[in-house]
Amino acid sequence: MDPILSGLLKPKSIAIIGASSTPGKIGHTVVKNLLDSGYEGGVYPINPKDEEIMGFKCYRNVKDVPYVVDAAVITVPAKLVLEVTRDCGEKGVKGLIIITSGFAEVGDHETEEALVELAHSYGMRILGPNIVGTLSNSDNLNASFAPFLPLNGKASLVSQSGALLIAMDAASFVRRVGFDKMISIGNMSDVNFSDMIAYLNEDPDTSCISLYVEGLKDGPRFIEEARKATKPIVVLKSGTSAHGAAAAASHTGSLAGAAKIYGAAFRQAGVSQADDLNDLFDRTLVLSLQPRMTGDNLLVLTNGGGVGVLATDAAEKYGLPMKFAPADVQEELKKHMPEFGSAKNPVDMTGMAGNDWYYTTTKFSYAHSWVDGLVVLYCETAMTDPQGIAESIYKGVHESGVTDKPVTVSFVGGERSDKAMAWLVENGIPAYGAPDLAVKAMGTLREDARMVEMSRSSAFLPENVDSAKARKVIAGARANGRAALTEIEAKQVFAAYGMPVTGTELATSEEEAVKFAAQIGYPVVMKIVSPDILHKSDAGAVKVNIKDEKMVREAYKTILDNSLNYKADAFIDGVAIQEMAPWATEVIVGSVNDSTFGPTVMFGLGGIFVEVLKDVTFRVAPISVEEAFTMQGEIKSAAILHGVRGDGPRDKTALAKVLATYAYMIHDLKDEIAESDANPVIVYEEGKGVKVVDARIILTKK
Ligand code: ADP
Ligand code: MG
Repeated sequence: MDPILSGLLKPKSIAIIGASSTPGKIGHTVVKNLLDSGYEGGVYPINPKDEEIMGFKCYRNVKDVPYVVDAAVITVPAKLVLEVTRDCGEKGVKGLIIITSGFAEVGDHETEEALVELAHSYGMRILGPNIVGTLSNSDNLNASFAPFLPLNGKASLVSQSGALLIAMDAASFVRRVGFDKMISIGNMSDVNFSDMIAYLNEDPDTSCISLYVEGLKDGPRFIEEARKATKPIVVLKSGTSAHGAAAAASHTGSLAGAAKIYGAAFRQAGVSQADDLNDLFDRTLVLSLQPRMTGDNLLVLTNGGGVGVLATDAAEKYGLPMKFAPADVQEELKKHMPEFGSAKNPVDMTGMAGNDWYYTTTKFSYAHSWVDGLVVLYCETAMTDPQGIAESIYKGVHESGVTDKPVTVSFVGGERSDKAMAWLVENGIPAYGAPDLAVKAMGTLREDARMVEMSRSSAFLPENVDSAKARKVIAGARANGRAALTEIEAKQVFAAYGMPVTGTELATSEEEAVKFAAQIGYPVVMKIVSPDILHKSDAGAVKVNIKDEKMVREAYKTILDNSLNYKADAFIDGVAIQEMAPWATEVIVGSVNDSTFGPTVMFGLGGIFVEVLKDVTFRVAPISVEEAFTMQGEIKSAAILHGVRGDGPRDKTALAKVLATYAYMIHDLKDEIAESDANPVIVYEEGKGVKVVDARIILTKK
């Protein structure tokens, strides 16, 4: 483990700079909290006025402390922080926990940067500023102004919001979700989420890393650290409003929202994303107590048909559709239910199920190789005792000898059930008050396993890439002072990466148009080529299905007329004559250069509805071919690619390759391409490939 971060988060001794004998002051609260939490390391209050605070000897300056100081909690006013940081550096402190606010969050980035620079010059790391502090049950450490340590458990929380951390600390008891550490990271001037993931992944007291994120500073590193982590990570990301609205020159620009890109990045990094605060607690509970679910077979045991049906619905919703249990499983389970029970799955033992049946069916099912995950449901009845049922389930799980498989529980009932569930959670079995939540928790464990598997697939490397050629085309446009490539140039760039684009020639006269059309072969498509007209059909400057010379001549005139009517001063390169691709399913592939994550590829169904329906999905580039397949299944209109109304299934393999190649291209050219799209890409039947018929690239500002 990083010794400096250990010094910061597991300090053997702490100085409180700005410690106070006045109750109510933060510098007083922190000393009191260290005392109350039973912290066993050295506690050194620093304050020039007092001799002693709460029984601890007080020093005028941290440099006067005659012992080693690992961490310093800083609570002095902002204007004094630089000075005390220097003192800490001279003293040889390892890390600073800067509670003081009044830095970047109020616009003072300069002082904050100076602070980090100063700390680093002494080899110190900074948590904060503008934080609550840090708490750890395993270290009996409450170095914060949150009033008490959270419910003891195995999750560790890292929060960008201090207020939310304090609230979750208190809520941990009511929600019965235990935490080892709660770390407030505030402005993240130095220590950030990526550092914390790397650190907590090595921390023996943490089994699940739980994050509250408002915004990340270094997206690619976050993805890298999260991918490397072996422990489950769950995140609640707030702030879902769109950003980058200004960058709407392409379709992708207007479709990309921060929330969607964060969502994609989390998925790629294998991070479980919570929908809301409740969900953060629910996911944290299951991820901190149970292993991932590595197969699709879910078995549900219940004493009530109703909750069984609710569980079945939830299973479908959360990606684990129920299957009938195999015959041998059914046969065994039938022994523990009346004639009118059902062993199919959900296994309904009926209201006659008592402790014995719960025990034997749990033990048998949990140990059976067909079962990848077990959900045990119970409806409180007059005949049974919830605590007895809870203990029977626990005994069944433990006596099975299995440890690498998940189990979740739901009891529906009153206070007795509630108490029994608390007991289960204390004993490592996540229990929820509703059957759908127990199934959802199992879905979280399955999704986590799938994401981890996917995150290990390697990025696609296209063959025969000629990036020098692509860069030459781009340099040519830049030399002309243009920020956008024409369709012809963009297609040259795409083709340099091996993407299948329609053959295109540029005609600068009617005669040339006729000549090229004959060369390419009828029918052809004709379009305006102008850096000033990005949406060509809007200008009436695209003509398809041109069948003969007469039509070429007419189209040539109309396209030029329409273009100049649309934009009188448009610069016109000429008219593109291109091979007409037969019609099939139109999709859009595009990209944005996201401010947090960098080049990001987008996929959706093409055509005019794409902007209305926003049925698109994203991935941070580069991606693997497997991810490209997953993207195709993610959009709501995915079924269209399976083939509708007599059309055969579309060529998903060719499409996956184009998507992955596209992602490779935007990553390779990330210094050049700000936004781009291929809209539409026409996707043919299986085995018949895809064709890019339109291309657009907007260059980065240089
Ligand atoms: P823009 O998006 O700038 O309006 P496009 O080049 O995408 O122009 O052309 C508009 C539409 O014409 C496309 O969505 C597609 O349906 C059709 N189209 C364009 N080029 C071709 C082509 N080479 N083969 C077949 N259809 C085409
Ligand atoms: Mg288009």
